[in-house]
Amino acid sequence: MAGIARVGDILGPGGVLTAPFSPDVTVNGRPVALLGCVYTAHPCCGIKGCPPTHCFGPTFDVPVGVTINGLPPITKSGKGLCGDGVKTASSDVIISGGLIGAIGGQALGAALK
Ligand SMILES: [Zn+2]
Repeated sequence: MAGIARVGDILGPGGVLTAPFSPDVTVNGRPVALLGCVYTAHPCCGIKGCPPTHCFGPTFDVPVGVTINGLPPITKSGKGLCGDGVKTASSDVIISGGLIGAIGGQALGAALK
């Protein structure tokens, strides 16, 4: 289960999700971040060999059975091109995974339309 990410949610140590986002679906009052949502540049993890900054880039996620405006929404299980994961997302609007999640996800997707 993973909460739906919204514009302004955080990826890794400080990247901010920007766009694309849903023009007409909000979660907790903020637009839902959609597949390819670009995160802003942020500090890296600090492991030796890691460059000082991760550049901006797209975020990927494919929650089972759910699309919004024709695109999968980003959830807390999403990852950026840099390898960092989505750190913040909705705590009360959640897409579950797997077969049962697919059924639940479709119900949630229908509820969001
Ligand atoms: Zn990163």
